[in-house]
Amino acid sequence: MQRIKSEQLYGEALKHIVGGVNSPSRSFKAVGGGAPVFMSRAEGAYFWDADGNRYIDYLAAFGPIITGHAHPIVTSAIVQAAQNGTLYGTPTEHEIELAAELKRAIPSMDKVRFVNSGTEAVMTTIRVARAATGRSKIIKFAGCYHGHSDLVLVAAGSGPSTLGIPDSAGVPASIAGEVITVPYNDLDGLKLALERWGDEVAAVMVEPIVGNFGMVMPHEGFLEELCRMTREAGALVIYDEVISAFRFHYGSTQTFQAFPDREAIRPDLTALGKIIGGGLPIGAYGGRAEVMDRVAPLGPAYQAGTMAGNPASVMAGLACLEVLRGDGVYPRMEALATRLADGLRQSAERHGIPLTVNRIVGAFSTHFCNHPVTNYDEAQDTDGEAFARFFRLMLDRGIYLAPSKYEAWFLTTAHTDEDIDATLEAAEASFQEMS
Ligand code: PMP
Repeated sequence: MQRIKSEQLYGEALKHIVGGVNSPSRSFKAVGGGAPVFMSRAEGAYFWDADGNRYIDYLAAFGPIITGHAHPIVTSAIVQAAQNGTLYGTPTEHEIELAAELKRAIPSMDKVRFVNSGTEAVMTTIRVARAATGRSKIIKFAGCYHGHSDLVLVAAGSGPSTLGIPDSAGVPASIAGEVITVPYNDLDGLKLALERWGDEVAAVMVEPIVGNFGMVMPHEGFLEELCRMTREAGALVIYDEVISAFRFHYGSTQTFQAFPDREAIRPDLTALGKIIGGGLPIGAYGGRAEVMDRVAPLGPAYQAGTMAGNPASVMAGLACLEVLRGDGVYPRMEALATRLADGLRQSAERHGIPLTVNRIVGAFSTHFCNHPVTNYDEAQDTDGEAFARFFRLMLDRGIYLAPSKYEAWFLTTAHTDEDIDATLEAAEASFQEMS
């Protein structure tokens, strides 16, 4: 497959945009480097690059594009919003509608505030939790990604439960020292951290279902115990559901059928993004009224935004949620994902390639290893070179995967059985070449 135009554009981009990309996850650094593919158009489950090559898209823009690209209902909502003027700097009626819809789907959110990204949403939940508790430390889990604000760009220290070290240049050690990192799915580690620092901890922040080191479900009882121990320590539970909300069913983790005792896993605060903006920039956070009422203008915790709750993002989000409320939407994505995930597993096995596939409803991750992946260490202990090879072979067969071994494959409402057949055929040929 020729990608001459992408190569040229990459050369140009490098002159003007740092690294040629506006988000490092778009670069091909993790899959052997070189020019990323420059896309120029997308519709449904496909996109076309600058050279005119077509790809079946499993990136879904890292999650938001759950209805496929340019869904007519979402597109017409955006057009309508644009025609009515894109930004007022005043409240609008549609913001109330979207906030009310989020509350209906996610009952722990008594009150909501819209921001512009998942990063902002998470960053503000931390500020609010600190304001509500008068404490400063945060516990997070290794490998969970919560955006790029200082506090959450902190990696684990050397032990299983240690104070953090900065994961990025520019994050001061003093800030990393406010963060404790614990392995995901490790209740003993969390217990240890809470015993040691519990009375200084404002919040425990978690991706309740992980999307950032593959798709990983919490072990049975993990979230229940996490919530119980956190509250016992007088801290707040923050769920980062920027990926997980509306991805597996119409709602969030706390309303997901996979969890028998959903009362026991209710968070105090939730951060949202991606899907709730229907492909336009958005973030939101919400939670218990008495916690949220700490936010300005009601309370002393400040958070603001010129673009926050802008009509286009809000209208696109409402339209996207409307599509997701349609009959059989999630079961259909699940059926396609199941066939694809099972087919990949069998195909890899036929060629003697170790592959672990973690599937949750319509999303899954592929790990080149022969052990389960339930935490970050296990996700790291996989064959990155094999993934990179597979990624390139699939790309050349017109299948676009996220360019990182840690990212998920996302099905959308636009994918069809024919797309799955074509993808499995490409995978079979790719695994054969690899073996
Ligand atoms: N939280 C999670 C769980 C995410 O996956 C991401 C983005 N991948 C973020 C937060 C940050 O969101 P954004 O990129 O919109 O700032």
